[in-house]
Amino acid sequence: RSAVELAQEAIDRIETLEPKLHSFLAVMGEQALAQAKAVDEKIAAGEEIGPLTGIPIAIKDNMCTPGVPTTCASKILQNFIPPYESTVSQKLKDAGAVIVGKTNLDEFAMGSSTESSAYQLTANPWDLSRVPGGSSGGSAAAVAGSECPVSLGSDTGGSIRLPASFCGIVGLKPTYGLVSRYGLVAYASSLDQIGPFGRTVEDAAIVLEAIAGYDPKDSTSLNVKIPHYADLLKPNLKSKGRLRIGIITETFGTGLDPEVDEAVKKAISHLQDLGAEIQTISCPNFRYGLPAYYIIAPSEASANLARYDGVKYGFRAEQGDNLLSMYEKTRAQGFGPEVKRRIMIGTYALSAGYYDAYYLKAQKVRTLIKQDFEKAFASVDILVSPTAPTTAFKAGEKTKDPISMYLSDLMTIPVNLAGLPGLSIPCGFDRQGLPIGLQLIGDVLREDVLLQVAHAYE
Ligand code: GLN
Repeated sequence: RSAVELAQEAIDRIETLEPKLHSFLAVMGEQALAQAKAVDEKIAAGEEIGPLTGIPIAIKDNMCTPGVPTTCASKILQNFIPPYESTVSQKLKDAGAVIVGKTNLDEFAMGSSTESSAYQLTANPWDLSRVPGGSSGGSAAAVAGSECPVSLGSDTGGSIRLPASFCGIVGLKPTYGLVSRYGLVAYASSLDQIGPFGRTVEDAAIVLEAIAGYDPKDSTSLNVKIPHYADLLKPNLKSKGRLRIGIITETFGTGLDPEVDEAVKKAISHLQDLGAEIQTISCPNFRYGLPAYYIIAPSEASANLARYDGVKYGFRAEQGDNLLSMYEKTRAQGFGPEVKRRIMIGTYALSAGYYDAYYLKAQKVRTLIKQDFEKAFASVDILVSPTAPTTAFKAGEKTKDPISMYLSDLMTIPVNLAGLPGLSIPCGFDRQGLPIGLQLIGDVLREDVLLQVAHAYE
C-alpha cells in the first residue's frame, strides 16, 4: 500500500477510536497526508525505501513539531506553536515516517497516569475505566488501541515503561544521551530520554535506530556508532557464552501485587528455558531511588519551568497591574496542581540552607544506586524486575494521594538515576485481563542485548 493509503487508514482508525480513547491532543490529518504524498513521490522517483517509509507514527506532545501546537498538556503552553523542530521528529521524517498526531501526557510529563493533563483523560484500551499509565499515556494507548503502529514517548522516571506495562506493549527507554533531547521540552534534564513504543520488539528496534545518534544541538548527546538493532534480533538466546540474567531481589516482596509476582517469575523461568543462566542480585540502595528522584526531578523542574512567565510562550493571564503580578497570575492560572507541587518542592530543596540536606544528599544516593548497578553488571548481562508493582488502576483511584501515585515508579526510577537503558515487555495478564510488564535493564549502551533478550522472549 502507498504511504497515503497507510496514513488515511491511521487517520480513519483515530477518528473512530478517539471518542473512547482520547489518546491525541492534535491529529495532524492534512499535514500527515501531505507528508505521505511526498513520501510516495520519492518512492516513485526511485529513492531507497527504509523500514519506516510511509509508517504512521504518533509523538508525545512534549516534542516540538512546527506548524502544530506543542502544549505539554499544559494550559501555559496553550496555542504555543514552536518555531523549530525536534531532532527526533526531523529524523523520523528523514526516515520516511509520517507523523499523524501529538499525544496526551501528564502536564509537563509529571505523573504516572496521564490524569494530570490539563485537557483530557486518556483511557486504557484494555479497560476504558482504567488509566493507561503515564506520563506517556497517550502514546501508549494509541499503539495498544491500534490507532497507529508505533509512537514516541519520553521517560524521566518510568514514563515510557510504566504505560507500556499498563497497556500491554513494548516500550524502551534508551541509555541517557543515545537519543537527542533537542526540541524535547525539558522536565528534569539529567534524566529525560526519548524512546519508542511498539507492538513488537522489532518495531521498537526499528524506531530506535531511526531516532538514535549524535546531535551537536544536545550537549549531552553521545557520539557513538548506532548498531542496526533490528538486524541483530534472533529467535533464541544461544550464543558462545551463556547469557547471564540477574533478578533484582529488592523488587520482589511487600507492595508487589501477587499476580504480577507470579507472572514475572514465570517469565523468568521461560528465559531460563530459552538458555539463560539466572542468578539473584541485590541492589540494596534501590529503595532510596524514589525519595532521591522526588528531590532531584522537582529541583531540575523548578529551574526548567522558570521560563514560563507569560512573556515568551503561549498563555498570558489578563489584568496584571505590573510585571510581577502578570508573572504571578500567569503561573497561578497556567500551571496545574501537580506541576505547582513539583515547583514548590524543587524550589525548597534548592534553597540556601536546605541544599546540602536535600539536593546534595539525593545526588549522593544517586551515586550509590549507580554503584549498585555497576556491581551487578560485573556479574550479569541484564537485570530483570517487574515494570510496575500493579496492573493498570482505575481513573481517579490515586489522584488524591500523590505518594501512592509516585509508588508506581518504584522499579523504573533507579534506571533513570543511573542513565541505563530499560525496556518493558508484556509477560501475561492478571485475572481481570489486564496486561503485566516485565522490565529488562541493560548496562550502558547495551540496547542490543536488551532487544535481543526481549525478542527471544516474545
Ligand atoms: N511519574 C514520574 C514523575 O511524575 C515519572 C515521569 C516521567 O518519566 N516523565 O515524575
